[in-house]
Amino acid sequence: KCSITIIGGGLAGCEAAWQATLRGCRVTLYEMKPQRFSPAHSSPLLAELVCSNSLRASDIGSAVGLLKQEMRLLDSLVLRAAAATEVPAGRALAVDRERFAGYITETMEGHPLITIQRREVKELPSPEQGPTIVATGPLTSEALSSAIAAVTGEERLSFYDAIAPIVIAESLDHDVVYRKSRYDDGPGDYLNCPMDRDQYRHFIDELARAEYVPLHPFEEPKYFEGCLPIEVLCARGEDTLRFGPMKPVGLPDPRTGREPYAVVQLRQENREGTTCNMVGFQTKLTYREQQRIFHLIPGMERAEFARLGSIHRNTFICAPLLLQPTLQLKARPDLLFAGQLAGVEGYVESAAMGLVAGINAARLATGATTPPPPPQTALGALISHLTRSDPRHFQPSNVNFGLFPAWEKKTPKRLRGQLRAETAVAALHRWRQDLGKNG
Ligand code: FAD
Repeated sequence: KCSITIIGGGLAGCEAAWQATLRGCRVTLYEMKPQRFSPAHSSPLLAELVCSNSLRASDIGSAVGLLKQEMRLLDSLVLRAAAATEVPAGRALAVDRERFAGYITETMEGHPLITIQRREVKELPSPEQGPTIVATGPLTSEALSSAIAAVTGEERLSFYDAIAPIVIAESLDHDVVYRKSRYDDGPGDYLNCPMDRDQYRHFIDELARAEYVPLHPFEEPKYFEGCLPIEVLCARGEDTLRFGPMKPVGLPDPRTGREPYAVVQLRQENREGTTCNMVGFQTKLTYREQQRIFHLIPGMERAEFARLGSIHRNTFICAPLLLQPTLQLKARPDLLFAGQLAGVEGYVESAAMGLVAGINAARLATGATTPPPPPQTALGALISHLTRSDPRHFQPSNVNFGLFPAWEKKTPKRLRGQLRAETAVAALHRWRQDLGKNG
């Protein structure tokens, strides 16, 4: 019989354990609760939802709805638990959090192939122990974080994310934005939204009185000077943003030959150029306020966002440098990373990466290798984000269609989600067949 070790009994760890047992594997799962709690966890149950009770949109025409559908097709435990403990939430899938965590805990505890050890793991197991999945989440304990940093290199382990909003490129007004890199003579790689003095003043006035999400007590004082939220920069003075991320110097508008008063720069985010990142615009503004205020930016009046900005305490590795598409660490292939620690964001995404890691680890334990899920699937899109993003700007991401290959066919926008879902489900079936009996 094959056997694997999993560290962390959260969403990713429990899903990974379940998937490994479906493939006949024995699992030893380590969870530090209730001996130790992270600053956000409080229940002794496994798979605790630390904040909202929502697993987001149900519609399979949305990226997160599709991800859930793919997980259902792969017999996800997290989605079985969600179906059994669902509460009404309109078009979203929400759960009764106690019953949800209770369902998963009972399944884990009652499973003949799973042994649960309730203690903090402080060291990574040796390679001789066989495949180990590290799924200790965004608030991995300090001792284990140090052990991970020793294998990855300190500079490849982050403790905060600083997420700037991502915009769908085709929703920008290309009569207003212009392409130019700072000081470059050619067209350059950046898109620039120019502002005159009045537009800048109006923008920072609105920003100064916008609502933002309060920090958790354990997040309070620790911003890095290099990635301060725009609202913090704005509060430092009227010109701080104009001398910081909104600096217009070296960016004359080719149509007038003059430098604007301020600019918002957008950098291409994916290979296909379908999405771009608002450079330096990490923020704690509420999502509603981000939509309102960023629509004031010239050229972004009708911008659609693939992802909005945020800043959290969050432990994650620089996956594009460190991980193979199987979620194995390049330097130590016996170690797999899953969940938020691997560089995804969100309950469903974390569970999804646990699902993939569980399949891979179980197959690895029997000597089989596994191709990654196809890129047209939501699972494959997340793996692409982890392994093919630019490591210099890597930040955790929710699933969104900006992570998928560009949609080449001419399809009305309202039908695209549904067609993407059909393509993805067909590709997932083929992938599963290719994996064979133990897939
Ligand atoms: P977790 O679910 O955190 O599981 C990791 C487990 O590992 C924990 O049980 C922990 O006790 C254990 N552990 C840690 N260190 C060790 C160790 N050394 N030894 C043994 N066990 C260990 N996402 C959303 O979609 N919606 C939200 O509303 C949301 N709110 C969030 C709020 C906060 C404060 C944070 C920090 C994150 C939030 N997230 C949210 C993001 C993320 O999706 C969740 O944190 C998600 O639970 C991550 O899943 P995971 O399995 O990777 O980690």
